[in-house]
Amino acid sequence: MSQPDSPAAATQAPAPTPAAATISTPAPAPTPAGPLSRAAHAAASAVIPGGVNSPVRAWKRLGGNPLTIARGKGSRIWDLDGKSYIDYVLSWGPLIVGHAHPAVVGAVRRTARDGLGFGAPTLAETEICEVIRSALPAMEQVRLVSSGTEAVMSALRLARAATGRDLVIKCDGCYHGHSDPLLVAAGSGCATLNTPDSSGVPAAIAAHTLSVPYNDAAAVERALTAHRGRVAAVIVEPVAGNMGLVLPKPGWLDALRRLCTEHGTLLIFDEVMTGFRVAWGGWQTVCGVTPDLTCLGKVIGGGLPVAAYGGRRDLMSHLAPIGACYQAGTLSGNPVAVAAGLATLKLCASKGFYAKQQAALAKLAAGLRQLAARRGVPIQISQAGTMWGFYFSERPVVDWTTAAASNQERWRTFFLGMINRGVYLAPSPFEAAFWSSAHRRGDVSATLAAAAEALEECSS
Ligand SMILES: *Cc1c(COP(=O)(O)O)cnc(C)c1O
Repeated sequence: MSQPDSPAAATQAPAPTPAAATISTPAPAPTPAGPLSRAAHAAASAVIPGGVNSPVRAWKRLGGNPLTIARGKGSRIWDLDGKSYIDYVLSWGPLIVGHAHPAVVGAVRRTARDGLGFGAPTLAETEICEVIRSALPAMEQVRLVSSGTEAVMSALRLARAATGRDLVIKCDGCYHGHSDPLLVAAGSGCATLNTPDSSGVPAAIAAHTLSVPYNDAAAVERALTAHRGRVAAVIVEPVAGNMGLVLPKPGWLDALRRLCTEHGTLLIFDEVMTGFRVAWGGWQTVCGVTPDLTCLGKVIGGGLPVAAYGGRRDLMSHLAPIGACYQAGTLSGNPVAVAAGLATLKLCASKGFYAKQQAALAKLAAGLRQLAARRGVPIQISQAGTMWGFYFSERPVVDWTTAAASNQERWRTFFLGMINRGVYLAPSPFEAAFWSSAHRRGDVSATLAAAAEALEECSS
């Protein structure tokens, strides 16, 4: 069972695939999938479309074979072939205390012993909603659901119910889950597959969604004015994490707040990714802008399926069973999932947790910046709390257009250079990266050592 503590170098021979062969760049290092991962992916592909249960898991951009993961502990994951990686994906964000934290696993074990779920109220549901409300006072009332998609879909239905309006404004490159009305200009997963919109979404439904550039208050104002009295909600990722990481420009979220208030439109912050990740609470506690409704997910489930939406009490009272807006879930507030979430939030609530992790991650970001500068590789690295992201770009990235203009071939070379040196980043140039309290100084130095070599490959 002993596993190497330092990033392992790839030893497996390349598995050339047709997709890889069509990309014409200086032959990049092969993906590191070993024979067991490759066999597992072949078996999966026979029974699961593309061999994955969520498209972002496929290494479609890389023309490679995704790794099949056997286990995780702390900052590391191990693939089926026994290779270990420093993990900056962290289950796409939820694992802010790292893999298999004993306090989280212990809470799950203890809770599971008393039954996996009842479809009736349990005490822990109230407890986690109280924790959420204390951290995010704008969430006067909270409803638990099982995925971020459900949280956003339900918040949108509620916004329409409360305003009696149909239209919604979102931003290009922001992802709000895969519900029909929000699969318009939806960022990473769709962008990675080069399908800006999904087939199967009726045009009549997509027509109720207006999409404007991120960080562009004038565009929102124009849309609200053009459709005066018809826009139920403006929904936004207060820090955009699904087109890489794009920070909000100073004043942009304040402008959204002012415009929404002027137009009787609700402001929805989708903090599914940023909630309890950029700070205790979410970006709203950092920027001081109060949304009408907030969506949470990812970290509040600690790796199990918990998500939530909430906001002003008068809005939330439109929900069944008190109001006429229906929303339900067999597994909503599942006790085992809530136990994982509560245990995770308790660890995050410890004094100085976010400041400490943010400072540790800032060292990694600074190190990467320095390495890239020394090799003359233009890079944009940004950080929000324990989230980070990078683009190979000379200009600052402020929206989807500038994100999409970044150098994707260079990203590919870098990604392969890193994974082959034991550092696991998201397999797309349009995803954020994450940091956990299980990451240590040794992980930073190992990551920087890998990056020094990978950047060398990028500059050649
Ligand atoms: C991940 C994410 C979602 C969707 O959550 P799921 O749990 O995958 O359905 C929605 N909004 C944002 C901002 C996200 O990052």
